[in-house]
Amino acid sequence: MGKKRKVSKTKGKKKKNPTPVSKKWEKYESKEGKVVRKQNFCPKCGPGTFMAKHKDRQSCGKCKYTVFKKE
Ligand SMILES: [Zn+2]
Repeated sequence: MGKKRKVSKTKGKKKKNPTPVSKKWEKYESKEGKVVRKQNFCPKCGPGTFMAKHKDRQSCGKCKYTVFKKE
């Protein structure tokens, strides 16, 4: 009675992302244990509605509020 060894068929394959990060968290960044928002939210719609980033401006997809970049 010999013990059968389990042979992995996926040998040599590397897992790319064992824990895929949800899209939602792309807008956040954890800094020193705290979650920091990377993007601004709409002052009209309030927190939770992020401004879409453009080259020279940021705009809200909900109410079309637009903020131009100050340079
Ligand atoms: Zn808005």
